[in-house]
Amino acid sequence: MKSRYSHILMLLGALLAFIPIIAVDYLLDAYVRVTEKNKVQQSVVAVTSQVELGVDDAIASLRRILAESPSLCTPTFVANVQREIESSLNMKQVLVENVDGVQYCDAFGLTVTYSPLSGSLPIPGHTETITLVKLGDLAMPALKITQVFGQGRRVSAFVPLLGQMPTAQSTGLGPSGMMRVLLTNGAQVLTVGDSQSFDNRTTRTEFVYAQAFAGELPLRGEAAIPFAIARAGYSDLDVGFTLVAGLMSAGLLFMALQYVRRSRVPAFDLERAIAHGEIKPYYQPVINLRTGELVGCEVLCRWEKKNGKVIPPGAFIDYAEVTGLAIPMTLSLMQQVRADLGELCQLMPEIKVSINLFEGHFRDGSIVEDVQAIFGGSLIDFRQLVFEITERRPLENSVQVNSVIAGLHALGSRLAMDDAGTGHSNLAYLATLGVDVIKIDRIFVDMVKADTKQVPVLDGLITMSHDLGCEIVAEGVETEAQALYLRARGVLHAQGFIFAPALKVGAFKELAMALHATKNPRSGVDGIVDSAA
Ligand code: C2E
Ligand code: CA
Ligand code: CA
Repeated sequence: MKSRYSHILMLLGALLAFIPIIAVDYLLDAYVRVTEKNKVQQSVVAVTSQVELGVDDAIASLRRILAESPSLCTPTFVANVQREIESSLNMKQVLVENVDGVQYCDAFGLTVTYSPLSGSLPIPGHTETITLVKLGDLAMPALKITQVFGQGRRVSAFVPLLGQMPTAQSTGLGPSGMMRVLLTNGAQVLTVGDSQSFDNRTTRTEFVYAQAFAGELPLRGEAAIPFAIARAGYSDLDVGFTLVAGLMSAGLLFMALQYVRRSRVPAFDLERAIAHGEIKPYYQPVINLRTGELVGCEVLCRWEKKNGKVIPPGAFIDYAEVTGLAIPMTLSLMQQVRADLGELCQLMPEIKVSINLFEGHFRDGSIVEDVQAIFGGSLIDFRQLVFEITERRPLENSVQVNSVIAGLHALGSRLAMDDAGTGHSNLAYLATLGVDVIKIDRIFVDMVKADTKQVPVLDGLITMSHDLGCEIVAEGVETEAQALYLRARGVLHAQGFIFAPALKVGAFKELAMALHATKNPRSGVDGIVDSAA
């Protein structure tokens, strides 16, 4: 499980390393959106505040004129009007008329030609009203700011919307951008640039957009530029960002690799560990339930790290099998077994040593030659060897598999079905493979509690194994109740924590010798234990 976890970790690290590159576009888009929105906002505010200033200025002038003129259209009034127009930046004209539009007087003694472009609109918080008009020949629309005076008379000041006609350049939005001023009722007053593309935009043509109000006036400004055009202006930055992100990615990837290399991820240097003999065989005794004698052992590997840590096989066995490293690993284990148990096996010719194989060994086929090369001429007889194959990943009944089994049988070794009952194959099928020993998985043994009278699945497995003529080894026996239950049903051999866990070679030999001594009190075999220690 742990090795799978470390794979995922490595993959994740590698993927994370590329995030900067993937993120560049996204980040740059976001950056452009924010920066350009600011720019657009600024230019629209510049326009609306200019309009607001012009109107405020005119309102103030108009109020001063009325305050300083006791009656309208007198020479004092006209003088006051002219003085205000001169000192005002934008005010062009002042006109006195009645409700029907009959003109009484103006600043210059002329007729004022104008035509309204909107109705008269109130300015919240003011007594003045505002009307959009076309004033004389002026191309720029003007605002007519009107104050009612006495009964039926109106005094109005005329102010062009802006001092100057804005251009695409002056707004800073470029030729594809647009800026416009609207009445708050939606009527367009003034437009610069391409407002059509903006109005006809679809979900696929994104615009950077901003709006602003001209203070309390019923006027609003809008500006927008196509996002794509704005984004294109940042291509230099894009190259720079990508370059930096590339460097960051490379850095991260390097760090991830360093991390994996230094980390204790067990999977990573398994190959080196095998070569350095760090994968050690531990031996779990198999006991005869009738006599209490040692009938053999199962070889279970452990990774003994240089730092003293011992890693159980669950952390790396999957990885070893997937990568094929289980083949050299088993080779190394068998060599160590030959050195560890040679003398013991010679002394106790009846004991069996069980070695775990995996399905890859049966595909590869070289296992038969390897067994022959390692144990041929050694103190361990081929007949003392049992090879376990798990039922969890069943073997195919192929020519290759059968020739490996036949090869091991020909040497005199035996084949055991490990974890029996957990896989999908039925036991009868196993018999056709030529299985000699059935190892009942500990989940079935676990079903036997202190007061259990019957476990149908376990009983069934035992009966079937007997019927097939196979020897039975029960795995994971932890309690006396379990041992007694199994013995009562004719199961002769068992391994489990009730007897011993997998032991280091020294401890295992000591135990083997102790059991041997109780059985053969007079045999002098102390030398073996000594040499093992
Ligand atoms: P397995 O072949 O079924 O080995 C039995 C496992 O049960 C061992 O775990 C053993 O320590 C544990 N065990 C023994 N008695 C008891 C008990 O009374 N109670 C409980 N709860 N557990 C008990 P281990 O050593 O961690 O091995 C785990 C698995 O790793 C083995 O299961 C086997 O499939 C695999 N393995 C171990 N060594 C090798 C090897 O050299 N080659 C291959 N291919 N697989 C191996
Ligand atoms: Ca096993
Ligand atoms: Ca097992």
